[in-house]
Amino acid sequence: MIELVLVPLVVVGLAVNGLRLRARVPHALPPADRGDYGYEWLTSRATALDEATRRDSAAYARAEGLDLVDLVPADLPVTAARDLVRQADPRSQGAGRLTAGCSAGAAVLVGPALLERADVTEPRDPQPADVIELFRRIRPYTAKGAAIVAAPQLRCGGDDLAKRKARLRASGVIVGVQLALDIVPYALTVLALAADWEWGLVAAVAYCLQPYLVFAGTALSPRGLHAAALLRAVHEPWVWTRTAVGRWRSAADRQRDAELADAAAYYRAALAEGTVRFFEERRPDCPWCGSRELAVLLRSPDLVMRKPGMFTLERCGGCEHVFQNPRLTPDGLSFYYRDAYDGLGASTAETVFLTSVESYRARARMLTPFTVPKAWLDVGAGHAHFCATASEIWPDTVFDGLDQGAGIAEAERRGWIATAHRGMFPELAGVLAGRYDVVSMHHYLEHTRAPFAELDAAARVLLPGGYLLIELPDPQWPLARFFGRYWMAWFQPQHQHMMPIGNLTRALAERGLRPVAIERGPAHQANDAVMAAYLFLANLAPDSTAPWSPRPPASLTRLWRGLVWTAGVPALAIGLLCDRSLGSAMARRWDLGNAYRVLARREENFPDGH
Ligand SMILES: [Zn+2]
Repeated sequence: MIELVLVPLVVVGLAVNGLRLRARVPHALPPADRGDYGYEWLTSRATALDEATRRDSAAYARAEGLDLVDLVPADLPVTAARDLVRQADPRSQGAGRLTAGCSAGAAVLVGPALLERADVTEPRDPQPADVIELFRRIRPYTAKGAAIVAAPQLRCGGDDLAKRKARLRASGVIVGVQLALDIVPYALTVLALAADWEWGLVAAVAYCLQPYLVFAGTALSPRGLHAAALLRAVHEPWVWTRTAVGRWRSAADRQRDAELADAAAYYRAALAEGTVRFFEERRPDCPWCGSRELAVLLRSPDLVMRKPGMFTLERCGGCEHVFQNPRLTPDGLSFYYRDAYDGLGASTAETVFLTSVESYRARARMLTPFTVPKAWLDVGAGHAHFCATASEIWPDTVFDGLDQGAGIAEAERRGWIATAHRGMFPELAGVLAGRYDVVSMHHYLEHTRAPFAELDAAARVLLPGGYLLIELPDPQWPLARFFGRYWMAWFQPQHQHMMPIGNLTRALAERGLRPVAIERGPAHQANDAVMAAYLFLANLAPDSTAPWSPRPPASLTRLWRGLVWTAGVPALAIGLLCDRSLGSAMARRWDLGNAYRVLARREENFPDGH
């Protein structure tokens, strides 16, 4: 009986996914008569860049107003071609600044001065993984936009599966998750065959035909397509094995190895005296209202980075304020923030920021009924992903960013903000006083040690009649308790304060900031269950290669991780499904969310110097 469910599931799944990928195969570069416009080309060493591709790509970039074009060889080996269409949708490559770059790793057209702006030099004798890495680093610096096209004349070498793991890593793919995703349809097909071989054969045929569904008759004719399709039953496991055992490391991998070794030395020294010195004394009263009625809400280790230490969140019985107690010292904070957003964690942080574009847009649109912003300061701007998105909604607004991290200077070089202010907001408020008609703080206040000082600074920096926009995780979200320490927004040890919305609006009013709009349900980010599942799995089978990890990974640990993540992929999928359906429905129904937004207007005649 099982085959009656399984076979249609497999066939429909393969067809839908095949068509989805087919829609992503890049279209062919149109031929041109001339194309001498001062572009540069980066190529991997196996790629022979021909005159026609040079000319056609230059003419195309010029006509479309692009300064970065990935050129996909028509004979790209089938595994590389499939990896590419899984990652990249060419339709989304040009749109917006916040698109993760995707490259086939063969040849790339680069606009004038783009390499200098991105501060990268072309590696010697680059491999495909190096070209992909380079493309992804340059992508945020494009002023005009990027594209990915098939180059009919371009030829590249055969596939080197031993280097596929490095290539996937360079593309930002988590190799283990990718392999687990590959195994699922294969395993289901085998299961269908085992249940009933006649029906199972239908699933097996669909499995073998899928590569043709993706590529036949498109601008790409991948090398090895027939073998990959007709012999897929053996070809796939061969590719997985070669990928899994691949030991080759790209230039970027080797650089990261060196950074990891340096980091390990730092963390060993920093942890030699234990973590007790990173904490202050526990305070007996609420930092928000002074009440001494405190109760422990939860204790949690660092579930995200897994640095050592145990943290406590307490809740005030007087005002419901939630705060870390004992809190970290400034040294402790810098220890736990190290490599979270910059350094070793920079590319992961970048990936996370790129997933929040819809939320950025919704925040920026909150101003629409009230004003057209002229000068906007985003506090806690990070790498300025919010500003890059908001400037598409408010093209005439000048966006500046403020942050303590090094990312803010890079944001200015990318052109995502006009001016970068690096430092602590309360300290910079004097210089910036009265310069902005909008100030925003998104998921910022909860990270600070003294939220009142931050609100004072915002009131000072705003012009009379200006607007302060705040988004914060909501500790009153009913499901927060349900997920316990696995609710992502508790985020220990980074979150110092979590304020119920009433506390915030009162504190704003005391500073002459009158709330004019509040969003609760619409601010909900549908990710509670998937993040909880992720944190649970990541702590069940931790990545012990982190430089603060006490032990180097044993092979048994690696096997355990592989098993947990393979089994965990369905759990993540179910989590995501629950978030998108049930979680979103609850948020709409209750008009509550795991975050809230408050827009407040600075009163015209509120006395300064509070
Ligand atoms: Zn309190």
